[in-house]
Amino acid sequence: STSGSQDKKAEGNLRSPICCIMGHVDTGKTKLLDCIRGTNVQEGEAGGITQQIGATYFPAENIRERTRELKADAKLNVPGLLVIDTPGHESFTNLRSRGSGLCDIAILVVDIMHGLEQQTIESLNLLRMRNTEFMVALNKVDRLYGWKSHRNEPIVKALKRQTKDVQNEFKMRLIQIITQFKEQGLNTELYYKNKEMGETHSIVPTSAISGEGVPDLLLLLVQWAQKTMIEKLTFSNEVQCTVLEVKVVEGHGTTIDVVLVNGILHEGDQVVVCGMQGPIVTTIRALLTPHPMKELRVKKPWDFYQGSVPLEMRSSLLTGLRPSGQLCLSFSDAAVGYEDMLASDWGTYLHHKEIKAAQGIKITAQGLEYAIAGTGLYVVGPDDDLEEIKRSAMEDMESVGTPICIP
Ligand code: GDP
Repeated sequence: STSGSQDKKAEGNLRSPICCIMGHVDTGKTKLLDCIRGTNVQEGEAGGITQQIGATYFPAENIRERTRELKADAKLNVPGLLVIDTPGHESFTNLRSRGSGLCDIAILVVDIMHGLEQQTIESLNLLRMRNTEFMVALNKVDRLYGWKSHRNEPIVKALKRQTKDVQNEFKMRLIQIITQFKEQGLNTELYYKNKEMGETHSIVPTSAISGEGVPDLLLLLVQWAQKTMIEKLTFSNEVQCTVLEVKVVEGHGTTIDVVLVNGILHEGDQVVVCGMQGPIVTTIRALLTPHPMKELRVKKPWDFYQGSVPLEMRSSLLTGLRPSGQLCLSFSDAAVGYEDMLASDWGTYLHHKEIKAAQGIKITAQGLEYAIAGTGLYVVGPDDDLEEIKRSAMEDMESVGTPICIP
């Protein structure tokens, strides 16, 4: 179809917006993430949703499908939406990367029964400090006394179906919360009444349990991002990358989990990361993403290779499967003849020759033991001055008080 080919074209230019979920403990951040991942996932129809390192990727097609009932006829120009998986993550709230920070857009979750709480205000200040666009998910609407659940329904429709009492309680609590935001110097309004998005932050009432308002939230996120951030979302060759976590992984040594915000990373790239004992200059040994486990059950090992696997290798692929399902063999590139993806570490990670933003990735390289989460990863290009990049990398540290200890 024409829209299909238009999407392809646009996908080449725009990267996916990156979204994070913030808010006070117990407001439902984790549950909301589970809910936007969708029940479909558990039922074995991922709808293109893929699990990444530290993030979940929602293709535009999936969002279009799930927001159909909103009749928005959403023209989605971005390839999808990348949602960071670790709400309230330590390295996330302490992001030290200069300038941009990690997220393009955030969801600030507020419990409708509790209103603004201490960490809501902390999150709010963090978002303002970093100039990050955000919208409010007014969660747990199903806890309004007498609420009748209508699974995954758009919120306007769901509200209309409630009794007058429920509607009144909703309005009363909404007004209180809008007032609380006002006290923080912030204008907020129900998203479908919000005529001045940007000046006034949108509120989307949601239930992370029964899913009301979740289609609205998804649609608003993507529409808002692509309407206001085209420049930021335009694909660039300049790498922008943030270290989320530093982790020891059996068989890989110390690895870093990163979010590639923009640009392309390649196996073999020389990179600089901020370390506790000074800049770490190293070479990317492997770019890893989680194995799509679902397909694993269906497909035979060789189906994963885009090139052909010689017959004699197939038997060794099978005998190479450990009881755990992990493959203990690894193959040289030539033997498998792959294109750009090679499934070694069977059942654990896919290896990539290169990865394009926006994505969550695990990187293996030497000398990462003292890397510091929350800082940037810098690629050293052929014409770059290494010393200058080392200085830049270490500047990320300057906003750190006491460095957190990484084993
Ligand atoms: P987090 O600390 O912000 O990640 O909060 P959780 O996602 O762990 O949720 C905290 C508690 O609130 C859990 O018991 C959830 O089941 C519950 N919860 C979360 N969202 C909703 C909601 O929309 N409605 C109701 N009734 N309970 C919710």
